[in-house]
Amino acid sequence: MSQFWSHIVHDLTPYIPGEQPKTNNLIKLNTNENPYPPSAKAIEAIQGATDEALRLYPDPNSDVLKQSIANYYKLDVNQVFVGNGSDEVLAHIFQGLLKHDKPLLFPDISYSFYPVYCGLYGIDYKTVSLNEKFEIDIEDYNQDNGAIIFPNPNAPTGIGLALKNIEALLQNNPNSVVVIDEAYIDFGGESAVPLINTYPNLVVVQTVSKSRALAGLRVGFAMAHPDLIQGLIRIKDSFNSYPMDRLATFGAAAAIDDTTYFNHICQKVMRTRERLSVQLEQLGFEVLPSQANFVFAKHSTFNASQLAQALRDKNIIVRHFSAPRISDHLRISIGTDAEIAQLIKSLTSIISNT
Ligand code: PMP
Repeated sequence: MSQFWSHIVHDLTPYIPGEQPKTNNLIKLNTNENPYPPSAKAIEAIQGATDEALRLYPDPNSDVLKQSIANYYKLDVNQVFVGNGSDEVLAHIFQGLLKHDKPLLFPDISYSFYPVYCGLYGIDYKTVSLNEKFEIDIEDYNQDNGAIIFPNPNAPTGIGLALKNIEALLQNNPNSVVVIDEAYIDFGGESAVPLINTYPNLVVVQTVSKSRALAGLRVGFAMAHPDLIQGLIRIKDSFNSYPMDRLATFGAAAAIDDTTYFNHICQKVMRTRERLSVQLEQLGFEVLPSQANFVFAKHSTFNASQLAQALRDKNIIVRHFSAPRISDHLRISIGTDAEIAQLIKSLTSIISNT
């Protein structure tokens, strides 16, 4: 607390990111990073951009990157917005598109940054409970609202929503902005991007942090009708006109162009996820059906926070949330096959020795 803080700082409840340990002898399964390296073409592009041109400000519009995204998704560049991580893109969306007289709706169990942005920007919101199977039921969103946001697949459950349900939600809410946060879409979900040309109220947000293994580069993007994109550009140009540095712009563009490597690592992660889910079930866990690069699992007898600590003692970090409805669960990011084998070995020993 400081007397010099403005009122808004006193009232904030900031987001708590997952731990980024300083030692590297840990198996890190706590922040949904990709266990594989980024595309070699992305590294080459970053190295290629590391030259004397760093003297200059970067392209304020990151046109090279927007073009790669537009090519990949068959959109026009004026339907694409880019930012410093999808967290920054989401922040601009909250401020620019989700603040209305009626409340913003999002699930009770969802990305825990959403209520933080509501606090930062003074946005009225209401949470909508997931059903008893931890699924989003779009019927529950048939209520007065200013806008709607949720991740698909949802986080931290990993459960995906079918495209036909997203389309029905858009049809039921033609006067609200509907934001689908697709941070984990490339691990088996159905993207809503093909609906953008039909629904002028749809915003799809994605990131290169997960499926393109570039969490360290901080690049995210939004895709929507050009009018919504213009609104975001107005916010960006009132905040930071050069959010994307030169290295991020070229590196992310090369990663998006390298579809072969991208498909290869996504397939690997999905195969490991399916094996891990079966192995966890054999150890007495109930595992929610995941379309993401993590699984959300609850043991029939062991306490989740004690399990997380016991794994930590064996140099494996997973994520436990002490929030209502999910405090019995662990969120485990998909690692390499060797890391997952070590996780299963450690869990087997913890469970059989206690
Ligand atoms: N959305 C969801 C649902 C997430 O889990 C995350 C990662 N914490 C993000 C957005 C933000 O990702 P990034 O800022 O790395 O693009």
